[in-house]
Amino acid sequence: ASVQKDDPGFKGHDMLAPFTAGWQTTDVHPLIIEKSEGSYVYDIDGKKYLDSLAGLWCTSLGGNEPRLVAAATSQLNTLPFYHSFWNRTTRPSLDLAKELLEMFTARKMGKVFFVNSGSEANDTQVKLVWYYNNALGRPNKKKFIARSKAYHGSTLISASLTGLPALHQKFDIPAPFVLHTDCPHYWRYHLPGETEEEFSTRLAKNLEDLILKEGPETIAAFIAEPVMGAGGVIPPPATYFEKIQAVVKKYDILFIADEVICAFGRLGTMFGCDKYNIKPDLVSLAKALSSGYMPIGAVIVSPEISDVVHSQSNKLGSFAHGFTYSGHPVSCAVAIETLKIYKERNIVDKVNSISSRFQDGLKAFSDSPIVGEIRGTGLILGTEFVDNKSPNDPFPPEWGVGAYFGAECQKNGMLVRVAGDTIMMSPPFIISPQEVDELISIYGNALKATEERVKE
Ligand code: PLP
Repeated sequence: ASVQKDDPGFKGHDMLAPFTAGWQTTDVHPLIIEKSEGSYVYDIDGKKYLDSLAGLWCTSLGGNEPRLVAAATSQLNTLPFYHSFWNRTTRPSLDLAKELLEMFTARKMGKVFFVNSGSEANDTQVKLVWYYNNALGRPNKKKFIARSKAYHGSTLISASLTGLPALHQKFDIPAPFVLHTDCPHYWRYHLPGETEEEFSTRLAKNLEDLILKEGPETIAAFIAEPVMGAGGVIPPPATYFEKIQAVVKKYDILFIADEVICAFGRLGTMFGCDKYNIKPDLVSLAKALSSGYMPIGAVIVSPEISDVVHSQSNKLGSFAHGFTYSGHPVSCAVAIETLKIYKERNIVDKVNSISSRFQDGLKAFSDSPIVGEIRGTGLILGTEFVDNKSPNDPFPPEWGVGAYFGAECQKNGMLVRVAGDTIMMSPPFIISPQEVDELISIYGNALKATEERVKE
């Protein structure tokens, strides 16, 4: 029977949930979400919440888009499954690959490899890059440089690329071939008097120093999110990617753009690469690729890489990598429909038409005595609470300032993401002006309540 609130096991439920302190979940009432509608979700008591994070940065078209349901149903009725191994495949996976190659205009790309998630996409990147370098006869060019506070996933390799120590602890990662360079967070890490441009120059120099120390011939690729997401929503400082790309190019190091959060309009451009003039060699996609309705991710690779992988003369044999559900036809059919809707509804224009209401409305709270920084672009925003408006004065963790703010939002009908004293939001692209106003109002009330609480 389905779980009921008065079940003795309701709190001590049978699920070991992700990103919880393991067995502690037995003492916590889970919030059980039962239904979604547009920008809202409902719990099992029927309480309505504005979903300010679009699920997990993914339900870009909101909760009940009938065309996505129809696309899934139709594909389930025609061909619920066939694989894409050994030169067999399905029409939806081919159509989706074609569409993605046409859409990605930051530079011409060669081929698409399908996976089920962002983590699998980034693991695939590492294997593709190794395969490529091995095929080119340079097997020692195998290290990856990622950034502190990056989030690239939860599997062993993608969690290694991730630059959040909490995700490494007790797992014997990062793997030895992964190095981390600076987090490009100007507000937190700039030196006194340093401009954004000077900060970017210093970080590019630090990256170059790291490459030279390790030996450029050992560095295979650099990976970055255009805007860092789970690390706290950190847009790059001025000229950052221009300078980083110049260093990476100088030493023949591939650039991997992790677009898992940024793609398809989130930043007010179709891809995050367009916003910051990034010309990547490889791209990771997931999340809004299917508006989160079906699990699917993709890796797009440059023609130089796909040519090597596909070359009959390369002596390595086939690229022995793939998942049962790579290119799952139902996921692909939903993704194709999602991309069609983005085009028909001019989703980038839609995001741009609402983003200043969202950004300006929330950034108006920057003067709050407990706010250190409110940052973001397009429909993604982070708020960091600190004492004395200083990045060097965090609130004592036991005060739970961020958690209190999150709980106030939830009480008043909005779900936000809380990570320590940082709050993250990335509402669905379809959010209306009235819903943005509601979001700002709930945020403002929670902020007031949190300010009072901190004063106590
Ligand atoms: N890359 C980025 C930038 C992400 O934000 C995430 C997830 O939030 C991932 C990779 C991992 O994706 P998944 O959770 O689908 O494995």
